[in-house]
Amino acid sequence: MRIVILGGGFGGLNAALLLGKKTQSSLCEIVLVSDTSRFVFRPSLIWVPFNNRQVEEISFPINKIAEKVGIRFIQKKVASILPKERKVLCQDGTQLVYDYLIIAAGAVPDWEKIEGLKGNTASVYDTHAALQTKI
Ligand SMILES: Cc1cc2nc3c(=O)[nH]c(=O)nc-3n(C[C@H](O)[C@H](O)[C@H](O)COP(=O)(O)OP(=O)(O)OC[C@H]3O[C@@H](n4cnc5c(N)ncnc54)[C@H](O)[C@@H]3O)c2cc1C
Repeated sequence: MRIVILGGGFGGLNAALLLGKKTQSSLCEIVLVSDTSRFVFRPSLIWVPFNNRQVEEISFPINKIAEKVGIRFIQKKVASILPKERKVLCQDGTQLVYDYLIIAAGAVPDWEKIEGLKGNTASVYDTHAALQTKI
């Protein structure tokens, strides 16, 4: 059996670690897919613009922790999900077949929903935004 988990944030990584520990001696394969190689502790992004923390200090590589509990980590961007075929399609053409799928890909803020928000405000919503705010 294969469980595929999308997203290497709090949701996806926690799910992967818990399932990885529980299924360690079974034939179940846990595959964690995320488009970034590092887990970022997002609450600490608030410190990045002020130079109180660097991104490297508030993040760690997912593959090292994944190895410890026998999870397969794949760094790829997911392009679509085909539920009827139980397949995840990645941007580079890779296809992952699953028995169970956990989607923990987070949220995408709609900056344009409120007029004037985009371009006129600073943010620490994600790593990219926090680094931009620093400049
Ligand atoms: C400054 C700040 C302070 C915060 N403070 C708190 C707090 O005190 N308490 C609290 O409970 N919460 C807090 N939060 C919120 C908390 O950090 C988020 O709710 C949490 O990180 C959400 O986790 P998630 O796993 O759902 O999503 P995310 O952290 O967004 O993770 C999603 C993951 O999916 C990956 N992904 C997305 N799309 C794709 C794709 N197509 N293909 C492959 N991978 C993909 C992303 O790269 C990411 O790794 C704070 C957030 C910020 C920014």
